Amino acid sequence: MKKILVLFSFVLSSCILSAQQLYSESSILMGSSFNISVVAEDEEFAKESLALAKEEIVRIEKLISSWIQGSETSKINQNAGVAAVKVSKELFDLIYRAQQISKLTSGAFDISFAAVGKLWEFDGRESQMPDQEILNASIVNIGHHLIELNEEASTVFLLKKGMRIGFGAIGKGYAADRAKQVLVERGVVGGIINASGDMNTWGTKPDGSSWTIGIVNPMNNKKVFSWFSLEHDAVVTSGDYEKFTQINGERYSHIIDPRTGIPAKGIVSCTVFAGKAELADALATAVFVMGKEAGLFLINQLPNIEAILIDDSGMIHRSKNIEIEEN
Ligand code: ADP
Ligand code: MG
Repeated sequence: MKKILVLFSFVLSSCILSAQQLYSESSILMGSSFNISVVAEDEEFAKESLALAKEEIVRIEKLISSWIQGSETSKINQNAGVAAVKVSKELFDLIYRAQQISKLTSGAFDISFAAVGKLWEFDGRESQMPDQEILNASIVNIGHHLIELNEEASTVFLLKKGMRIGFGAIGKGYAADRAKQVLVERGVVGGIINASGDMNTWGTKPDGSSWTIGIVNPMNNKKVFSWFSLEHDAVVTSGDYEKFTQINGERYSHIIDPRTGIPAKGIVSCTVFAGKAELADALATAVFVMGKEAGLFLINQLPNIEAILIDDSGMIHRSKNIEIEEN
């Protein structure tokens, strides 16, 4: 579980006053635990809604997984350096948006990081720095500009043979956005998609009050240091304490710096607030790589995006519109 715990106050007692209730269900989807909650008056409608949201997430996993043989993403990877692959408009658009975020973050976020992904195991065990020659030979296969998109033909071509793409840093966010959209289109008035702490909300709690989250400082005995009312629909945290590696006693995150092929260090968690979970997810990963100064500098340029970081000495850093008081 993430050490930045995001806690919700589900005030169910207020349901006595209103016919609306909160219906929730947890399941393992995309290798993560998803908790989906909907506000509804009718139990059957709520259950059907939860099932539809789950179906949507399963559908997305089949599209973007590089582990599922025969997925569009696997086909793109298998044809790296060989041929352009025709894909659905949905995947094409997702890759296009990923490329735009790479440009925005000067390449810190890059789905083609996956060319070096196989060199690292993030299971908490002590590992060794990969051989520099192997790293050098692998990082030449990273580069968002080497992903050739042809909109007319709806094709994706990874220009080099050693290239791979992976949606680990954006997939859960995209799935959360899509699941929310499916529910909103169905007329569900409020809810939360919580993908292991990557959150997407809409509407209000059954009692009409805003959804609130509390963020816990992982360096400080899990103490909640702040409560927020959600003004941004999506809140995403990057920095999973269970996925890290140690080299010579130093702890490295599972987020890879595409410039070096080496995992980023310095930030232990980065929470990004945005309108969409997909963008929040990608930016949280990018800020990790960029580091606190450059990362917050970028966030402060972007309208309606905020971030809170905790560095490896436990210090909290925040973007300009966030005020926090540690209690
Ligand atoms: P979390 O797993 O804590 O939610 P992220 O959303 O940041 O964190 O996703 C991390 C995952 O993103 C990694 O496991 C890997 O699959 C992928 N990834 C690692 N480095 C990068 C990068 N620089 N750009 C894009 N994706 C990355
Ligand atoms: Mg991310």
